[in-house]
Amino acid sequence: MSLKAKTRPKRLKTKLKKNDVVTIIKGKDRGKSGRILAIDHIRDRVIIEGLNIMKKAMKKKSQNDQGGIKELERPLPIANVMINCKKCGPTRIGYQIKAKEKIRICRKCGEQL
Ligand SMILES: [Zn+2]
Repeated sequence: MSLKAKTRPKRLKTKLKKNDVVTIIKGKDRGKSGRILAIDHIRDRVIIEGLNIMKKAMKKKSQNDQGGIKELERPLPIANVMINCKKCGPTRIGYQIKAKEKIRICRKCGEQL
């Protein structure tokens, strides 16, 4: 019997969706909110509009290219963000079945997210 167990990397199943407005709860941008531009389900990361910016110096590639500093949004771990409830602020997502449809609700106030 092989000792090498086939371990799959544990994938965190996120309840977040693209265009959700989230708040960062950890790191240098803590407390800031923004809209999710993209979700990386493999690395469990999200890209949030205008947040976690990295300034990158770009080289001049052509006559028309000015080069200079380009601002890029860097992905953040999903665990570092929380969805924003309009009433309570950053919150956890719960589910509720409404008219046979699964909807996302705020765990604190029950409001639909
Ligand atoms: Zn709420």
